[in-house]
Amino acid sequence: MSYQKPKGTTDIYTGEIEKWQYVEAVARDVFEKYDFHEIRTPIFEHIEVISRGVGGTTDIVTKEMYDFHDKGNRHITLRPEGTAPLVRAYVEHKFFGPEHQNPFKTFYIGPMFRYERPQSGRLRQFHQIGMEVIGSKNPATDVEGILVALDFYKRLGVKHTKLVINSLGNIESRKIYRQALIDYLEPHFEELSEDSQRRLHDNPLRVLDSKDEKDQKFVQAAPSILDYLDEESHQFFEEVKVLLDALEVDYVIDHRMVRGLDYYNHTVFELMSNAPGFNGALTTICAGGRYDGLVTELGGPTSHDSGFGFALGLERAIITMEAEELEFPTVKPLDVYVVGLGEATSIESLKLVQAARYAGLISERDYLNRKAKTQFKSANKQKAKIVLVLGEDELAQGIVKVKTMATGTEITVSLAEMYQDFAGIYQKQLNA
Ligand code: ATP
Ligand code: MG
Repeated sequence: MSYQKPKGTTDIYTGEIEKWQYVEAVARDVFEKYDFHEIRTPIFEHIEVISRGVGGTTDIVTKEMYDFHDKGNRHITLRPEGTAPLVRAYVEHKFFGPEHQNPFKTFYIGPMFRYERPQSGRLRQFHQIGMEVIGSKNPATDVEGILVALDFYKRLGVKHTKLVINSLGNIESRKIYRQALIDYLEPHFEELSEDSQRRLHDNPLRVLDSKDEKDQKFVQAAPSILDYLDEESHQFFEEVKVLLDALEVDYVIDHRMVRGLDYYNHTVFELMSNAPGFNGALTTICAGGRYDGLVTELGGPTSHDSGFGFALGLERAIITMEAEELEFPTVKPLDVYVVGLGEATSIESLKLVQAARYAGLISERDYLNRKAKTQFKSANKQKAKIVLVLGEDELAQGIVKVKTMATGTEITVSLAEMYQDFAGIYQKQLNA
């Protein structure tokens, strides 16, 4: 019997993991510059956090949840996204209190779970990097969030990006628009796709998000939400644009862009990539927006009921870099490999490899009592810069051979000297 990983999951191992570590390190560095601090919330949550937070009619809640009853009969779900859990934590720990950063600025990196049909770029366990700012109604917060995303991709070297923004207005504007959209779509009910028919009364804005060809002509001619913004919503969107313009950030407005989660209002944005490797398709590489109302929905104070956040798929970020043929850092080569010949050298080989590690060098030895040739093969395969050779004769004389692999230069050094100044001898021989 042998086992396979569950459908829609991946094992990420050397060769690929270095890409992940690199992308994560860049993200952490960018967040630090913007004064965002990491948070790690549980992988699972009480289901109400997600259903109330994300919205009961969304695809995520109705179709994609990994939920179950635990042994204590609690209804639990693996988290499908990061914002609702984070707002739950914000309220639970009273991060709005005076001893905390205000607005509260935080980021997360971790796995999310959605029961979707697995296909290229669509997994059941995937990973997101995301950020949230809670407690600021300032449009500068929206712009800062967008800038973090732009900065992150710029640092990765990604060039073929396009920023798309829209406003969903405040809750009142959205309500009026929602009705206008229903009125517009209803006469065409029979011509809409099945999904859109189902959404029409529950969640009509989602129809605009439909990729189904049947819906396209209606989506194209749909009324624009921007024509339904009230004064406050209009003003807010104007301020966002003024700030983006002030920073000379290029963007386009797409009045049909809504997001899949119910909590969004005012600013929504997507960063898209048209990298050559995507063959003309526009791929969303980051998405987010404002979610005023979510804090009170999850039991928090009205005084801090505003938020802005984005999430980006780590897998997607890596694919985007590959689509632009960008370089990733590769596995680091070994600094030192200790070739030990004969069982008698085993203890001294261990002491040597440890001395190398304590000197801060990436080091490995042989564990299998293999022949010299095979050990050298391993050393070469891992691109070792320096190889120490310890045979039984050397051991008896209290010496070790130090070979510089790039040049083939070899010297003999006493073991006592090696232990006294490993780093110094290593450095000197590196250039010998
Ligand atoms: P889509 O319309 O592609 O389903 P979404 O609206 O569900 O996207 P969000 O919930 O906004 O996506 O998540 C943000 C990002 O997370 C996406 O742009 C994508 O990169 C990534 N993502 C979402 N679902 C998956 C998945 N099942 N597998 C891999 N990545 C995903
Ligand atoms: Mg989705």
